[in-house]
Amino acid sequence: AKTRDLLVEKVEDLVRRYKKIDDDFFDELEEILITSDVGVNTVMELIDDLRSEVRKQKIENALDLQPILSEKLVNLLKNDEAADSSLNIEDGRLNVVLFVGVNGVGKTTTIGKMAHMFKQQGKNVLLAAGDTFRAAAIEQLEVWGERVGVDVIKQQQGSDPAAVIYDAIQAAKSRKVDVLLCDTAGRLQNKVNLMEELAKVHRVLQRELPGAPHEVLLVLDATTGQNALSQAKTFGQSAGVTGLVLTKLDGTAKGGIVIAIRNELNIPVKYVGLGEKMDDLQAFDPEQFVHALFA
Ligand code: GDP
Repeated sequence: AKTRDLLVEKVEDLVRRYKKIDDDFFDELEEILITSDVGVNTVMELIDDLRSEVRKQKIENALDLQPILSEKLVNLLKNDEAADSSLNIEDGRLNVVLFVGVNGVGKTTTIGKMAHMFKQQGKNVLLAAGDTFRAAAIEQLEVWGERVGVDVIKQQQGSDPAAVIYDAIQAAKSRKVDVLLCDTAGRLQNKVNLMEELAKVHRVLQRELPGAPHEVLLVLDATTGQNALSQAKTFGQSAGVTGLVLTKLDGTAKGGIVIAIRNELNIPVKYVGLGEKMDDLQAFDPEQFVHALFA
């Protein structure tokens, strides 16, 4: 709703003020899209596209351009192979989901919410406290574990994250767990080290369970806008990310970031966080998202 207010109302106001399409019109449109975080590259493409439509279809009235813009936005979200938001989770096997992302984006909260979701589906869930860098991270995961009613495998602060993941895999196997959700560290300083740590966790998972991890979800904070995009680029390259979770979409008018991420990274947004509570997690549906924008 917030993104709709920002983006669509401004576009509607714009097309009303400019009866005739000219360069100033496109400049203003560009600014509106950029301020709702659609992403500079994506905006440039869109504007070029719209300019050529205007020439081709000989459109003069700005009002006639609005439906074309909505259609282009829908296409940006839909027309790529990354349109599937479903998770690679199968019955009858141990599924491992690795969560990566920088501190504060909502990683622990998302793990808690997802544990709740899988539990609701009748699945046996286990959590692994793989962020051994911060004592608070382990404690927080335990709080979520208690809240949701699932166990947490942990070691003390400072221990090797790969060792925690190893323990968790063994526990998951012997307890016939369906879904193992693994937290990882997200310190921003010492990025190289962090990437090496994640690579080691990956190796342990692959060695202990062929096919694992089945998903690597990068958690991003939607309110950080273009920062989220650059985090996605960093992690996307080195951590083998298979999908994104965009948190705090409830707190921002900058939902345009969803469009930028899909267009510029080709990594699917799989889930969105819409609040701090257990139930505030939703599978991302691109069509529903654009419909909500232009309803
Ligand atoms: P982590 O450091 O990445 O594990 O982040 P946390 O899970 O501790 O979350 C950081 C803060 O963001 C906490 O205060 C959460 O309650 C809050 N948070 C997480 N997800 C959402 C969301 O979808 N919406 C809102 N409004 N707040 C969220």
